[in-house]
Amino acid sequence: MSAEYTLDLDVLNPATEEVVATVPAATAADVDTAVVHATKAQVRWAALAPGDRARLLRRFAVTVDEHLEELARLEVREAGHTIGNARWEAGNVRDLLDYAAGGVERLTGRQIPVPGGLDVTILEPLGVVGVIAPWNFPMPIAAWGTAPALAAGNAVILKPAETTPLTALRLAELALEAGLPEGLFQVLPGHGPVAGNALVEHPGVAKIVFTGSTAVGKQVLAKGSALLKRVTLELGGKSPNIVFADADLEAAAAAAPMAFLDNSGQDCCARTRILVQRSAYDRFLDLLAPGIESVRVGDPADEQTQMGPLISKVQLERVRSYVTDDLHGIRGKAPEGPGFWFPPTLLTGVDPHARVAVEEVFGPVAVVLPFEDEAEAVALANATDYGLAGSIWTRDVGRALRVSQAVRAGNLSVNSHSSVRYWTPFGGFKQSGLGRELGPDALTAFTETKNVFISTEGPAQ
Ligand code: NAD
Repeated sequence: MSAEYTLDLDVLNPATEEVVATVPAATAADVDTAVVHATKAQVRWAALAPGDRARLLRRFAVTVDEHLEELARLEVREAGHTIGNARWEAGNVRDLLDYAAGGVERLTGRQIPVPGGLDVTILEPLGVVGVIAPWNFPMPIAAWGTAPALAAGNAVILKPAETTPLTALRLAELALEAGLPEGLFQVLPGHGPVAGNALVEHPGVAKIVFTGSTAVGKQVLAKGSALLKRVTLELGGKSPNIVFADADLEAAAAAAPMAFLDNSGQDCCARTRILVQRSAYDRFLDLLAPGIESVRVGDPADEQTQMGPLISKVQLERVRSYVTDDLHGIRGKAPEGPGFWFPPTLLTGVDPHARVAVEEVFGPVAVVLPFEDEAEAVALANATDYGLAGSIWTRDVGRALRVSQAVRAGNLSVNSHSSVRYWTPFGGFKQSGLGRELGPDALTAFTETKNVFISTEGPAQ
């Protein structure tokens, strides 16, 4: 291993900067060993009766549910998530496993009419799947790839982010406790360019599910393509929140703060470009300001806290670099002292082409930009390389549909900011990603389609 990468990973509590755990960082050799175990386990797993695989995944879901509070507390400690969010996240893992388990016996091929025989398609597992997860939602995003991959008959090797390996490691223990076979779901904490890269370059790994930055996602795609590896990418976003003057402005203003502040803005779907029709701009800002100033930022373990710290010092510096002294707007409060704190920040009067208006900040920072009419709203919404999510606030149904069709993004919501459900598809347009996760087709994305023709011609007379 290169000297620039540590042999261990120190896991810090982002609210206190205390080391809460130290775990060994996996090497490329560890990845090789894991692939050997996974390959063997996958063959046995795929040979199980579908009902038995489903039962084991349901048992895994029940085991996660029984440890929900423990997992949530671990997420608070390693990621600084508010306890309310962390409970939701652990529950999301349970629900994903349950939903995927329901798909095992329903993963059917097709029968296609052909002359002279019978033609059927068979959906076969890919083999070993590598899931490379980020730190912003360590548990749910790990499970988005893992649950459907396992359900479709694959083995999974999960590489969590350097900063957040603890919940992933605990999930692997719970999988064994629930009765999943050894080697089927392995977790290898490690450095991205070492363990992550080894997974991407390993010929025994059939598919990589990557969530993280667009820059690394492009590298993963390029390296994976050398082996014709299947690759799914969930990358960044710079999502618009479009507020028309005819909207319920009170409701739109009440929802806008947490739409970019939830998880301290470290959310690829964060609505960080608030576009407001000029005729409603002043009124909207008046309604919005108290909602930002009063957000409760502090100890994430406190049930009343709405926003915790950023994940790391690196991320704090990154966020700070976007909020330069010449910019102004509405600021909330954040604790002083240890911890990676940054206050809720809404910037006004920003040039729509400025870095902070087009790049993903991944912190509690948004810009508010005025627009004149629907055409300008759509043009502004699309004036970014990203295309992950977006919201449209209007009382005009026709406009809601027109704008939904015109905005180039994978996940839109009307009069709401909700865009992620485990049973609906999720993924990005443009530089926000490749492929879709979740939803009714999630399992199919972890299969290869085989076509088999069976001749019905009898023996020659
Ligand atoms: P990153 O892309 O570096 O890390 C994401 C995952 O990829 C981690 O597990 C990491 O270890 C792994 N990784 C890193 N380099 C790798 C490589 N060469 N080969 C294989 N795997 C590799 O993201 P980051 O540095 O943690 O965050 C930087 C920025 O990325 C953030 O500020 C944010 O803008 C964006 N981001 C987006 C998401 C998202 O959900 N879309 C998540 C995390 C970060």
